[in-house]
Amino acid sequence: MVPSSSDDDSWMKVLNNDCEDSTSDGRVSVSLSDKSDIDFSNYEENDEDEIVVDSEFEKELDPLKAALRSKMFTYNHKDDIEFEKRMLFNNVDTFRAALKDYVIQKGFPIQRLKNEKSRCTAKCGVEGCPWRIHASPVGDSTIFQIKTYNPQHTCVMDRKNPEATSDWIAKKLIAVLRDNTEMTNKSILADMRKYGVQPSKMQVWSSKRKALNEIEGIHFASYGKLPKDAELLRQSNPECIVQIHYDRPNIEVAPRFLRLFISFKAQKDGFLKRCKPFIGFDGCHLKGPYSGTLLTVVALDGNNSLFPLAFAMAECENKETWSWFFDFFELHFGPFDNHLPLTCMRDRQKGLNLAYEDGFPLADARHAFGEAVKCDHVTNNFTESFNAWVGDLRGKPILTLVEGLRRKFMKKMHKRFQKSCTWRSHLTPKIVDKLKLIADQSRRCERMMASEALFEVIDTNKHYIVNLS
Ligand SMILES: [Zn+2]
Repeated sequence: MVPSSSDDDSWMKVLNNDCEDSTSDGRVSVSLSDKSDIDFSNYEENDEDEIVVDSEFEKELDPLKAALRSKMFTYNHKDDIEFEKRMLFNNVDTFRAALKDYVIQKGFPIQRLKNEKSRCTAKCGVEGCPWRIHASPVGDSTIFQIKTYNPQHTCVMDRKNPEATSDWIAKKLIAVLRDNTEMTNKSILADMRKYGVQPSKMQVWSSKRKALNEIEGIHFASYGKLPKDAELLRQSNPECIVQIHYDRPNIEVAPRFLRLFISFKAQKDGFLKRCKPFIGFDGCHLKGPYSGTLLTVVALDGNNSLFPLAFAMAECENKETWSWFFDFFELHFGPFDNHLPLTCMRDRQKGLNLAYEDGFPLADARHAFGEAVKCDHVTNNFTESFNAWVGDLRGKPILTLVEGLRRKFMKKMHKRFQKSCTWRSHLTPKIVDKLKLIADQSRRCERMMASEALFEVIDTNKHYIVNLS
């Protein structure tokens, strides 16, 4: 470890020395003598001078405003971290975390000369290597900025970086383990390779343990906040249905979250007024420590696009959970009086058919279509598209999942509304295209009029009677 030089005031005495950036050839010169810290400290005091404003803003008086024109650091797990002079960070902690990742990625020993809220200064620990960085806040703000930077390393890369502790690895693992808690140690090792790190078996084991505990904690906290969040949803979305179902076998046991059903008024109105009478049910597994199932019901709108109606989280997929789902579906969209006035499509989901036949014995099934429904989605289970739409939300804690689905739906509906404002026909675009195609193909048909509304149509050697009344 390098002793901190902030214990003495020697840096105060050299304010008038040249700063690092002032060499005539523009390169950063770093003294490797004992005085290097002193020189650098001097530089720090000249932070104000370092905020170089563009010539057209030369009269800029506010250093914060001037500095905010610089590039903000953004974290991208896929790319290598690259720093540049004047780069901005939300705060000192973001800078420290980015610097740590950078050091691990590039594989070099770091010497933190100053590591304070008001300044961070570090250099490469290999003797003779010129890499050096210095960052400090912009004006009075908490925003951190790289004030001097020499990106050049002349040292050799070292893979066994002591900075890559199991705490650091655990932090990195949370992002990937959240989507796949079953990740093997081999895959973890492969994932760490992108940071240039080769942790030991022991390190992988303890990092994985730490990361899983952390994820579980996040999920657990999320369930605890659910009742409050549900109440907020009800208050801000009148006529929505948000139903939480708890499991409590006896009075001595604390209630435990079991299921949740959600559907909004916009979904009900949109479906009853503007959708085709055609719906599909589906269930997909949720990832993460409280693995349950996401149950959904979707419809098709006038333009043959997916229209989600309701979703629920349940412990699993069986006759009981689907029956429970149908009860709330009917409560919000019904009553259907045993007769679902819809064509329903469902895959061979566990328990879905049994529950469905119990709930709606008179409803149409996939293989027996009502005349009202003719659409191209019939042969494809369109709920699969819904699962793809839900995407990685499936691995998120329950509140994030609920909020994510609500937002996705809201954005989708607004986008469709905006688009539909540009339509010129009373028919939807996909239907217009279809009609055009049919019209084009019907040119080969011959039409004979029998009365004002009755026609005989001949298509090659087949005859049809068409009654328009
Ligand atoms: Zn170096």
